[in-house]
Amino acid sequence: MRHIAIIGSGPAGYYTAEACQKQFGEDVAIDIIDRLPVPFGLVRTGVAPDHQSIKAVSRRYEAVALTDTVRFVGNLVIGRDVSIPELQGLYDAVILATGAPSDRPLGVPGDDLPGVIGSAAFVGWYNGHPDHADLAPRIDERDVVIIGNGNVALDCARILAKTARELEESDVVAHAYDILKKAQPRSITILGRRGPAQIAMTPKELGELGRLERASVHVDPADLPPTSVDEALEPGQRKSLALLRQFAEPSPEKVVAIRFDFFVVSERVEGEGRVERLVLERTRLDAQQQSIGTGERVTMPADLIISCIGYRTPPIPDVPYDEVRGRFANEEGRIRPGLYCVGWARRGPSGTIGTNKPDGFLIAEAIAADQPAAAGKQGRAGLDALIAERGLEIVTFRDWQKIDEAEIAQARLGAPREKFVRIADMVKAGRG
Ligand code: NAP
Repeated sequence: MRHIAIIGSGPAGYYTAEACQKQFGEDVAIDIIDRLPVPFGLVRTGVAPDHQSIKAVSRRYEAVALTDTVRFVGNLVIGRDVSIPELQGLYDAVILATGAPSDRPLGVPGDDLPGVIGSAAFVGWYNGHPDHADLAPRIDERDVVIIGNGNVALDCARILAKTARELEESDVVAHAYDILKKAQPRSITILGRRGPAQIAMTPKELGELGRLERASVHVDPADLPPTSVDEALEPGQRKSLALLRQFAEPSPEKVVAIRFDFFVVSERVEGEGRVERLVLERTRLDAQQQSIGTGERVTMPADLIISCIGYRTPPIPDVPYDEVRGRFANEEGRIRPGLYCVGWARRGPSGTIGTNKPDGFLIAEAIAADQPAAAGKQGRAGLDALIAERGLEIVTFRDWQKIDEAEIAQARLGAPREKFVRIADMVKAGRG
């Protein structure tokens, strides 16, 4: 029997489990371990609460979880409760599918002032991630500045701009819903260090921004490139640019004005005890379409800054780490014999949920090539012995199903679920 441990139960973890099942058939025992008592990672705590159709992919992971060869071990922190060398001693292959749940720092003076938060924290707050349950950002009558031109920036702007009615059927958690339904930002400004033709936002998500009840979207026509550039763009980018051109048409301002401001880079954050303004440098594009400073400075009022500029994978003790890229040091998913990584922990935070599928197959094939036969390791029996010896309280998939049922049962009217946001409450619900 081949024993495989996958650390992380998000999309990369479950797609890899599925790929290992296809690669090794019945002759494999796969433990999917998560530090949280609940599975599905980014699908639960990253995907926007008003994008329920995307979250439906968890049914596919559930089908994998319920097969005989796979088991879920929740509430177990690898690197704290059990070390990577211990796991490698027990399993033929250990695969890190830990995602990229930490914010890349803005890296400018003042970025540690209260009121400057990263998207992992803000998204984690409204999605009920236990790490960010106490964030309680100040939103009402504030000037909110969102830094970054990716889909996460759009998620943050949209959730802030939506009315209570628009959020009703989402699974935004109660502590965030209570703040968001009362709060009305004075303005939301989305900053890009490059221009409208360089945004990483996809047209479906950008289009959604233009259909909000109380928010209007505005682009300065002077920022738009000539239409002659459109032809050279990828179809998706061309569609996104067309939407930005629509947003540049004169339109009445609604109560929440979302403004795009392009060609600006943050220089420093200022304020007495908390953020009050952001000092920016105007930029232009160089020959490689990268942004370079022009020396012109502008200052913008900011009561809340949400920086949506990408994520990092947190290091784990005993695993080689690439500080520059913010992920595990690896060669096509191989870290060292018997230790692999997949998904965002391997290639960084890019692509859609489905992009992780081929990653899983690549690693399953690499394991088969590296280890033609199982080494007769202890696998899950050895892990269970360690868990018992250390008195650790783990959560099984059956326990998760009880948590799931309890969350669905306690949902507010119209919402699909009300998540538990504290680990202790999750564990308690799992015990029934
Ligand atoms: P992203 O798509 O990589 O966008 C990051 C943005 O941050 C880029 O506009 C980048 O600009 C900018 N940036 C980076 N460093 C910066 C700095 N120091 N100052 C100013 N701007 C900076 O990342 P993301 O939005 O975090 O999304 C991560 C992945 O999840 C993406 O693949 C995304 O499509 C996906 N996602 C999908 C959905 C969906 O499908 N609904 C929702 C959310 C996320 P440059 O281009 O100049 O580097």
